[in-house]
Amino acid sequence: MSVTVHLNLVDGEWVDGERRSNGNPARPGEIVSEYAVADRDTARAAIDAARRAQPGWASQPVGSRMAVLDDIGTTILRRTEELAVLLSREEGKLLSEARGEVSRAGQTFRYYAHQLLQPQGEVYSSTRPGVHAEVRRRPLGVIGIITPWNYPLAIPAWKVAPALAYGNAVVLKPAELVTASAGELARIIAGSALPPGVFNLVMGAGRVVGEELLTSAGIDGVSFTGGTGTGGHVARQCLAHGNKRFQLEMGGKNPLVVLDDADLEVAVRCALDGSFFSTGQRCTASSRLIVQAGIHDRFVDALAAAAGALRVGDPLDPRSELGPVVSPEQLAQNLDYVRIGRDEGARVVAGGTHQPDEGQFMRPTLFAGARNDMRLAREEIFGPVSCVIEVDDLDEAISVAGDTDYGLSAGIVTTSLSAAERFKRDARAGIVSVNLPTAGTELHLPFGGTGASNHGPREQGGYARDFYSVPVTCYTGW
Ligand code: NDP
Repeated sequence: MSVTVHLNLVDGEWVDGERRSNGNPARPGEIVSEYAVADRDTARAAIDAARRAQPGWASQPVGSRMAVLDDIGTTILRRTEELAVLLSREEGKLLSEARGEVSRAGQTFRYYAHQLLQPQGEVYSSTRPGVHAEVRRRPLGVIGIITPWNYPLAIPAWKVAPALAYGNAVVLKPAELVTASAGELARIIAGSALPPGVFNLVMGAGRVVGEELLTSAGIDGVSFTGGTGTGGHVARQCLAHGNKRFQLEMGGKNPLVVLDDADLEVAVRCALDGSFFSTGQRCTASSRLIVQAGIHDRFVDALAAAAGALRVGDPLDPRSELGPVVSPEQLAQNLDYVRIGRDEGARVVAGGTHQPDEGQFMRPTLFAGARNDMRLAREEIFGPVSCVIEVDDLDEAISVAGDTDYGLSAGIVTTSLSAAERFKRDARAGIVSVNLPTAGTELHLPFGGTGASNHGPREQGGYARDFYSVPVTCYTGW
């Protein structure tokens, strides 16, 4: 396959820089694409361009903004197959999962086109005679968007689309591992009727290009998804440099509770999907399986057998059920956690090894006999590694599930309506699932967590407006 070169997009122009390449995690030595690295000057030029372009974009009629967003979404959807193959080769997720991600990205742009027809303000009764009170919304301004590698199209889409819809200009900095997907998104946006400078792409290291977005006076707000450590740095920099608004979506250590009354087949299906699909590289992955004693042994045996049977291989091969780990560094980290889990006294009942093929493949790994105070159960691994913690009853399950620094997603498998209702009420997480994997979310519903998983307003759905626009309270006397 030929190698495409992706350039930075600044003020509608393609800007070159030092060239780097990204490889295919499933096929060592195969180059997926090259990209031009932006330096700080390029990032500054992008921010300046966004500042100049934002007021004009915000004042365009809603119908024009809708048409642009709808066109971007439609183009993404039309190119689903080609973009999915690229995403799969670059990030390593199965082609079927990549198709779902591309489709999600396209639908997201179309969704925000139509969100613009929703009411954009509120009218209140004033307590003062002769006064009219209303709340309007104005755009936040110029948004710096910093994204991780694990959803190379969907995460940029669910930030860029609402940012543009509500009248902002954008400078996007994607993770360096997935610049081809971001580069293709930029080409699609550049091919739309969006005025030059409203959307800009700068690729390069977080500590250079990302840092420029955090410290520049030209940026009004930063929307970040990534690790909790990086998120803390983003927060500190935003506060120190102009008290910028920021929104952080970060890690998870998500519990899936399985009660004695659960349908075993449903429980195994939820755990298998939540723990291992997308190679466990999802912030909503189920990495703690909290299982009641009466079903524990049957569940562990069935899940270990199902995990052991998963076919790990090239994500473009339709027979594969699990793709590679994204990078050699991530694989080394995953294997290190297997060693840590063993040293802490948990038992590997499936996987635990690097699959001895070419590429960065790892067998889906299940630990039994874990305790919630082990590092295995407390730290985000971000790979196909999960652990089973045995509990006596629902009270203990809820308590263990909530005993974590994180709080993104939590699930329960049960046939008891009252247990399900209690879990929805008491689980300490931003997303709660019953008899479904912890990792399934929909674009029109709010997404986000609590604790170390999140800071700031929710993403996605109508809630995205809370970050990308500023409420202005207006009093008019007559
Ligand atoms: P990182 O935190 O390492 O990186 C995220 C982004 O931040 C990258 O674009 C990175 O750039 C950039 N960055 C790094 N350092 C800085 C800096 N000093 N200033 C500005 N930007 C910086 O996360 P990963 O990409 O490794 O993604 C995995 C993490 O993302 C996991 O913890 C996962 O849980 C989380 N995640 C959370 C989701 C959620 O919605 N809650 C969804 C998906 C993932 P560079 O390219 O240089 O690394």
